[in-house]
Amino acid sequence: MAANAGGKRILLHMCCGPCSISVVRALLEEGFSVTGFFYNPNIHPLREYLKRREGAAETAARLGVPVIFKDGEYDPAVYLRETAFREANRCFHCYRLRLERTLSVARRGGFDFFSSTLLYSKMQKHEVIRDLGRDMAGAGKTAFLYRDFRAGWKEGIETSKAWGIYRQQYCGCIYSEYERYRGELADLAPDRKTPPRGETPSREAPDGADAPADPS
Ligand code: SF4
Repeated sequence: MAANAGGKRILLHMCCGPCSISVVRALLEEGFSVTGFFYNPNIHPLREYLKRREGAAETAARLGVPVIFKDGEYDPAVYLRETAFREANRCFHCYRLRLERTLSVARRGGFDFFSSTLLYSKMQKHEVIRDLGRDMAGAGKTAFLYRDFRAGWKEGIETSKAWGIYRQQYCGCIYSEYERYRGELADLAPDRKTPPRGETPSREAPDGADAPADPS
C-alpha cells in the first residue's frame, strides 16, 4: 500500500506480540507514525500478562516503535467488575474497556487516530470491535482507524515463530483459560454440567497460539 498517511500519529492498542507484527508493519508501510499502547487488564493470571507484555515489547523493539505500557493499571478486578453478571456478553465489555482507555490516552496525547491489534485476529468478533471503535470516536478529533488486518494473519504467525515471540494458548481472561482447558476436567468428571457463559472467540484457535491448523 502506498505511504499516504503522511506521518499522522496513531495510538495502537496492542493485545500481544504475535497480533502486533503484521499490523504495525502495515501501518508503517502506510506512512503512519505508530505508538503502541499496552493496556490489557483482562489477561489472567499476572504471569500470563507479563509474558504477553514481554512479547509485545520485543515485537515493538524489532519494528522500531515506542510503546506506552499501562502496567500500573493492571488489575484483574477492573476487568471482572466490567463483566460481572454479563459473562455471556463479556467480550463486548472487554473490547470496550480496552478501546475506551486507548481513546482517552490518544485524545490527551493529541493523536490523529487510534486502533487495535484485535482487528488482526480471525478469532475475535471483528465487526463488534470495528463498530465499537467508530461509535466511541464519533466526530471527535481522534478518529478510529479501521482496517481489516486479518489479511496479515499468516505473516503474524510465521514471523512470531521465527522471532521466538511468546504465543499464548488462550484468549486472555480467566473464562477463556477455563474454556481452553476444561476438557481435562471433563475427563475427571464426565457427568459434570458446564454452565453456559457465552463463548470465547479464540476457543478453537487461540490468538497467537498454535491452532489445531493454521486457518490461513
Ligand atoms: S474471551 Fe478474550 S475478548 Fe472475550 S472477554 Fe475473555 S479475554 Fe476478552
